[in-house]
Amino acid sequence: MRVTNKFGLPEFLAEPAKEAYRTKCDYSVTELVRPPQITRLSKIHKDQLEVDISDQLWILLGRAVHDRIGARAKLNHDVTKKVHVEEQLSTKVGEQILAGTPDMVEVYQIDGQTHATIYDFKVTSVWSFVLGDKPEWETQLRLYQLLVREAYSVPFENITLKICAILRDWTGQRARREPDYPQLPYHEVEVATISRDDVLTMAKERIAAIEDGTLCNETDRWQRETTFAVMKEGRKTAVKVFSNSAEATEMVTRLGGPHYIEERPNNWNRCEQYCPVSKFCNQYQEHVAEMVTTNMDEIGL
Ligand code: SF4
Repeated sequence: MRVTNKFGLPEFLAEPAKEAYRTKCDYSVTELVRPPQITRLSKIHKDQLEVDISDQLWILLGRAVHDRIGARAKLNHDVTKKVHVEEQLSTKVGEQILAGTPDMVEVYQIDGQTHATIYDFKVTSVWSFVLGDKPEWETQLRLYQLLVREAYSVPFENITLKICAILRDWTGQRARREPDYPQLPYHEVEVATISRDDVLTMAKERIAAIEDGTLCNETDRWQRETTFAVMKEGRKTAVKVFSNSAEATEMVTRLGGPHYIEERPNNWNRCEQYCPVSKFCNQYQEHVAEMVTTNMDEIGL
């Protein structure tokens, strides 16, 4: 992957690519967590991919937090716990080698049995935490559970999974004003575990989806439905947003005067702004071509 610096930012902000897996693996946990098509195209086009320093700043911040917490954890003086920080682990899933690097794993004894807690640190936005990325986070931790069982000889059912989220844009003012807003900038969430068989099945299905060319679905594309906003001249925000045009038309007819409808087409949000392989993706390129044709038809060209 090539790192660009389109905005001339200081080079010290460039986040070095994570060290390649010393263990030769077929798939990393990150690759299994992402939509299958992104992983497939990233592997095919790995030498042509680009990332700009400006897009890496949040990653840099996240890594800084990991490094700091890791350094503190290594000073652990609790002799009843063994702490492993960012160790690369691997295991076999069918015929494939799966590798990953959990942020931190504590291994300890309870009643003569070995137990472990896997911690994953997330530096994330309030919006993302409240609304969000949790299914991907859960999948990531469950895949780590496979690795930890093997690496540290911990019975699968004795492993606890924890997400530790630091909310980077949290404000005390909103916390005081809004009871539903997170009341602290730090949250720990325990992820429910599922059986080892179910995790293995999920991992195999994900590998199969990468290899058989499964396309992205609406969730993968962060797709938003087309909506119809009733607008009023001179006002920036919508009076009301509807999911169908009939209700919006009825409201505009009723309100009359300076009201009008603004159609907000379904956007493939991830493809448009965040997907690293969008220029290699036929699914997205065909969608763009279809939208252009539709727009030309609408304006009579
Ligand atoms: S561009 Fe969109 S459809 Fe294509 S791989 Fe990326 S997210 Fe999926």
